[in-house]
This record gives sequence, structure tokens and C-alpha cells, in this order.
Amino acid sequence: MTKDWKTRTTLVHEGTRRSQYGEMAEAIFLTQGFAYPDAEAAEARFIKAGEDEFIYARYGNPTTRMFEERIAALEGTEDAFATASGMAAVNGALVSMLRAGDHVVSSRALFGSCLYILEEVLTRYGVKVTFVDGADLAQWRAAVTPGTKAVFFESMSNPTLELVDIRAVSEIAHAVGALVVVDNVFATPIFSRAVEQGADVVVYSTTKHVDGQGRALGGVICGTKDFIRKVAEPYLKHTGAAMSPFTAWIMLNGLATLDLRCRAMADSAARIATALEGHPKVTKVIYPALASHPQHALAMEQMGSGGTLVTFEVAGGKEAAFRFVNALRIALISNNLGDAKTIATHPATTTHQRLPQEQKDALGITPGLIRFSVGLEDAGDLIADLMQALDAA
Ligand SMILES: *Cc1c(COP(=O)(O)O)cnc(C)c1O
Repeated sequence: MTKDWKTRTTLVHEGTRRSQYGEMAEAIFLTQGFAYPDAEAAEARFIKAGEDEFIYARYGNPTTRMFEERIAALEGTEDAFATASGMAAVNGALVSMLRAGDHVVSSRALFGSCLYILEEVLTRYGVKVTFVDGADLAQWRAAVTPGTKAVFFESMSNPTLELVDIRAVSEIAHAVGALVVVDNVFATPIFSRAVEQGADVVVYSTTKHVDGQGRALGGVICGTKDFIRKVAEPYLKHTGAAMSPFTAWIMLNGLATLDLRCRAMADSAARIATALEGHPKVTKVIYPALASHPQHALAMEQMGSGGTLVTFEVAGGKEAAFRFVNALRIALISNNLGDAKTIATHPATTTHQRLPQEQKDALGITPGLIRFSVGLEDAGDLIADLMQALDAA
């Protein structure tokens, strides 16, 4: 945006609209519609709605608009469109810009529902999709063609925290005129500067770090004004993807503390990763800020942090992994991430259960693997909890 505010100021104030009452907290405009002062005003608004004029909450709403402006300012994009879930954002970003005959290149290591959209939905409507190993630039180079309309990837993959080099893949994509669409959830909008590094469109599930307290589903698409208003919005507003004003209010409050929370969680994650490394019952620790991560240098350059998740492998396969998670006293067994509460997930039997074994093998989803989403509890308490649970494993 034009203001030279730093991140934390932006996250508290950007986009705020105050009513005539001067309320401190962002108001929830829990309304589906808007009354016009006269028929002429209604007609004029349907011809062209002004910057701060609304017609119907499926198209936009003042509370939702505050959230869109605040997160666009954080992301460094001209505009954003908030959606009912992260998947509505991924689907909306891709389907709104693609048509039959177009070609898309995507990394293979994707969140299950993202994989469904690329593998099942897009192909059903005649879009050709090529999957590549996201970390292998030679595969991206070989896969793009002059007909490639978009490339899609998760900047940090689930659950094995593999990075895609945003700058390098963007160069490869832009050389053939393809748009770069990044799902930046795992990297978080705090640590990843995807747009500065070349991405054209960034999508988030705000269900994760942005809410940060596990309350509401939400999503957002960030991009240029042209992409958001001319490509994405017509599709989103007519197909009913809009975020509710109440959710937008939750997400606005989440943004106010996002920077503080992500940094605190990442600090604890780094301490936990270090404590786990070398533990006799842990056969592997995956954390991008550890020197042992194969893309450590890229992670430091691209994110400047290892992020808020630690993935590790407990020795002894599924049985030991289950004994371990069942023994945890603070960390909860669930499948969200980015929550204030620390969450342990066993991907092989939950989030990635449906994948055929050879795909689990290819993605490194072993029976002993645990994805640990580090919350806001005291890091020492979390480490003590992990150590006693490892003893039990
Ligand atoms: C959770 C998640 C999504 C989907 O978001 P929802 O809000 O659950 O619809 C998409 N991509 C990634 C990487 C996610 O973690």
C-alpha cells in the first residue's frame, strides 16, 4: 500500500472503516444487503459501485472488505478477495482463470483437497495438468510449455516441509507467460514474501494461522487489482464463495496478533526441533531452520525462519507413533495447524490416509511420521511433554 507502515502497524489498523459511532473494535456488518437512499442511487450503484459502496454480501461487505484490505497490505498485493474456506480460495483462483485446453503445471506434494481440484475438477473440464517434483527445477523447466497458463504449488509442503523455490519457479513460469499461483499456508504470510519473490497470486486458508485459534474456516486470494476484480471476483461472487462478515471479524482480530503469534510459535518450533534432533527414539527431524534440512539455505533466504511446524519420525513405526501421541499431555491430537494449541497429527493414518502406499512412500509419509504444529504454550513445557511421550513410545 502507499503507507509506509511496518507489518505490526498494518495488522492492527489497515483497512479499518468506522461508522458514525467511532467504534474502537471493527464493526460486524451482519447484513446481506444495503438500502439505497433513492432509486437513482440504486441504479447508479448497479452500473458501477464506488470503492466503498456495497450491493450484496455475496459480492462484498464492509467487514469483509476491512479484512481484504488488511491482508492485501500485509501480502503486498493491490487487492484481495476473502472466501468461505481455504479451498474456496484455491478453487476460485484456479477455476476463474482457466478454460478448456489450458495447461497447468503443479507440484505433486499437495494438500489433499488441492490435489482433488487439480486432478479431478480441472481435468474434468478439459484443463491439462502436469505434476512435477516441486523441489526439482529441471522438472519445472521440462514441464512448462507456451500453452501453460498457470503453475501452482504449496511454497512449503505438508507434512514433510519441503520448499519450492518461489523465485526460480516464477522465472520459469513467466518465461512462458504463465501465472504463478502459490498456496502459502505452511509458510505463513509473516515469513513468506511470495509476491516479492515473483508469485502473481497467493492463496491462504485463513483457518490456520490467521484465525490462529481454531474457530472459523476462511480463505483469501491476494493478487493484482486486475486479477482480483476482473478474473476472480466475477467467478467468486456468482458462485457463492464469499466469506461471512462474522468470519471476517474473527480473521481481522486474528491478523492483529498474527506477527506476534507466528514469531513466538516459530521460536518454540526451533527449540523443539533442536531438542528432538539426536534423541535416540527420533529417527528423523524435519525443520527448515535446522542445518540438517536439505533446503536449509533456501529456507533461510526465502522465509528467514523455519516456520511453525516440526515434522519428525518416531522409531518403531505406527505402533510407537500411536503410543507417542497417546502419551502427550499438552499437545492435542487433531489435524488443524497454526493454532494457539499445539497439535500432533499422524499423517499416514489421517490427513494422508487415502493416498496409495507408493505415493506415501514417494512423499516420505512413513508410519512413524508425526506432524507437530507448535502452539503458543511455553516451549519448555512442550519439550518436557514431548520427552515424556517419547519415553512412553
Ligand atoms: C488447510 C489447507 C487448505 C484448505 O483450507 P480450508 O480452510 O480447510 O478449506 C489448503 N491448502 C493448505 C496447504 C492447507 O493447509
